[in-house]
Amino acid sequence: MIYGVDVGGSKIEIAVFDEKLQRIESWRVATPKHSYEAFLAQIITLVQQADDKYGCKGQVGIGMPGIVNAQQRVLSANVPCANGKEVKADLVAQLERPIAVENDCRCFALSEASLGAGKQYQKVFGAIIGTGAGGGFCIDGALYKSAQGIAGEYGHHPLSAVLQQKYHLPILACGCGLQGCLERYVAGPGLAGLYQHFTTQTLTSEQVITAMRAGESEARHAFNCYMDLLGSAFANLIKAYDPEVIVLGGGMSLIDELVETLPKAIEPHVFSAVSVPDIVRAKHGDASGALGAALLGSKVHA
Ligand SMILES: [Zn+2]
Repeated sequence: MIYGVDVGGSKIEIAVFDEKLQRIESWRVATPKHSYEAFLAQIITLVQQADDKYGCKGQVGIGMPGIVNAQQRVLSANVPCANGKEVKADLVAQLERPIAVENDCRCFALSEASLGAGKQYQKVFGAIIGTGAGGGFCIDGALYKSAQGIAGEYGHHPLSAVLQQKYHLPILACGCGLQGCLERYVAGPGLAGLYQHFTTQTLTSEQVITAMRAGESEARHAFNCYMDLLGSAFANLIKAYDPEVIVLGGGMSLIDELVETLPKAIEPHVFSAVSVPDIVRAKHGDASGALGAALLGSKVHA
């Protein structure tokens, strides 16, 4: 059996797959945030439960938020107790088998490139627009493994000065330590922040969308600004990776108006001779992270 473990800021899910990567079942528990020992113990318990249930020693792949750097050290703001830890080495020692650990956005990209909406393309960028903004690049169904594990971090490209001046936007500090990262403007909470910037009123991003659909002009203006920024962010990644398709995941990708208007929003930010690649929604949705982790887990051998 193959297990895909999807670590999130609040939940850890284990999904069990057969040899053909068909999902059999999954279950989830709360993520221990403050004790690294408790965090490791929780993952070990999940794997042991699956081993006991299926009477085997399954292959394990883990997807988690943050950077998994060249030294296999995890740098994660969402799971603070794992920050700076060698999660892979610590789990290998206790689970007594090789395992794969990768950034969750890159697990998403891999699953969509090899078994999802990007399957018929060779060069696929998988972009999550959710609580954060990150992604991964795949070539011929395999994840591009960059030197330091940071390729695909499009959310930490800086906000364009042109757009900052056009909308008189504040320069926001990012959790990564830089100033003015696009993630602060284009991830889920970004739309709410823009609405507040233009109106000084507080709504959630979901409420801004509802207000826009009801015809409120300020909400429409905030959304148009959001799309201009998102178009610029995606133009950056197109210039960097030149993909044939961009597969969208995360909560914001469920907004029809976003998916429909994104190609037009990108156009003004790329060179005039460059055409916008295909842009499609993910096939596996929230299940993509565990599937991508399982795909990586299936490829590690003792
Ligand atoms: Zn940043």
